[in-house]
Amino acid sequence: MTTTVAAYAAPSAKAPLERTTIERRTVGEHDVLIDIKFAGICHSDIHQARAGWGEAIFPMVPGHEIAGIVEAVGSAVTKFKVGDRVGVGCMVDSCRVCEPCLNGQEQHCVRGNVQTYNGVGKDGEPTYGGYSQKIVVADAFTVRIPEGLSLDVAAPLLCAGITTYSPLKHWGAGPGKQVAVIGLGGLGHMAVKIAHALGAEVTVLSQSLRKKDDGLKLGADHYYATSDPKTFEELAGSFDVILSTVSAPLNFGAYLSLLKTGGALVNVGAPEEPISLNLFSLLGGAKILAGSMIGGIAETQEMLDFCAEHGLGAEIELIEASQINEAYERVDNSDVRYRFVIDTATI
Ligand SMILES: [Zn+2]
Ligand SMILES: [Zn+2]
Repeated sequence: MTTTVAAYAAPSAKAPLERTTIERRTVGEHDVLIDIKFAGICHSDIHQARAGWGEAIFPMVPGHEIAGIVEAVGSAVTKFKVGDRVGVGCMVDSCRVCEPCLNGQEQHCVRGNVQTYNGVGKDGEPTYGGYSQKIVVADAFTVRIPEGLSLDVAAPLLCAGITTYSPLKHWGAGPGKQVAVIGLGGLGHMAVKIAHALGAEVTVLSQSLRKKDDGLKLGADHYYATSDPKTFEELAGSFDVILSTVSAPLNFGAYLSLLKTGGALVNVGAPEEPISLNLFSLLGGAKILAGSMIGGIAETQEMLDFCAEHGLGAEIELIEASQINEAYERVDNSDVRYRFVIDTATI
C-alpha cells in the first residue's frame, strides 16, 4: 500500500516550488519508512530544480539532506526499529555488487547509484527527495543519527558533512597538517569544523575578509582574502591539503603554488566550464589535483559518529516550507549562514 504524502516540488525547470502530494512506495521487507523532520537546502537542489545540470525529471521534489524518525520497518530490517533517529543523504540505492559498491564506495557505483531525487529507483519510478513529510528508503542506505546531534543541525551533514569529511580523511587532514579550505559557504563551514576537529591547522581562503570572525569561531586558525595578491606570495608552499568547496572558475595554477611538495588540491565543487591549466604547476613539487564526491554509506555513518562525538552540527537557519523559493534566491546571493533547513512539519 503506497502512502500519499505532502511535498514541495518544482513542477518544471522555470517554475517556483509549490506544495503538492506524492506517493511513497509500499514498505518492502528491507525498507524503512521515515517520518522526515528536517531537510537541508543544498546548492545542488537549486541547480537541479532549474535543470541546470542538464536532463532532469519533473515534477521534482529536491532534498538530499534528510533527518527524521523511523515510523515503520520491513519484516527483514534488523538494523533499525520504530523511533530510531535516522538520516538519508544523496543516494538511496546502488547495484551493490560492483567493485566500488563492495568497497563501500556506493557513490561511485559503476552502474550509477540511485539519486535520492531526480533519479529513477529500481522499481522504475522517479525518486523524490526530502522536501516532503515521509520517505521510504532501503535500510542499507539509511544511516543512524547519534543521540547528541539535534536532527535539525544533523540534516546538512548528510551532504555537506560527508562531502567534506571524506576528502579530508582521505588526504590525511590531522595533527601536524596544514589544511586550507577555499570558500566559507555551506560546504566550507563544515570543512573548517571537521578539519579543526581532526586536529589540523586550518586556513580559510575566501574572496574577502567579510566572514573572518565567523571563520575563526568555526575553528579556523587563519583567514586570508584571495582578492589580495599578497596572500598568494605569503602562503606559497604552505599546505598539505587544499579543499576547494567553490564552483567558481579559480586560477588553479595559483592555488597549486600554495601546496607543499606532494600536496593535494582537492575539488568538491566544479566550475561549469572546462579549465585551462599549465601542467608545469603540477610537475614542480609533484603536486596532486584531485576530486571527491560525497562518500560511501559506511563512511557517512562514521562521519555522523565523529560529528556527534565532537559536537559538530551545521550552522543553520531554520525556515518554513513556504519560504523555500525565497531561500533559493538568498542562496543565489550567498546570503545564508550557512545552511537553510526546512522544518518539514510546515509542509
Ligand atoms: Zn548536496
Ligand atoms: Zn555498484
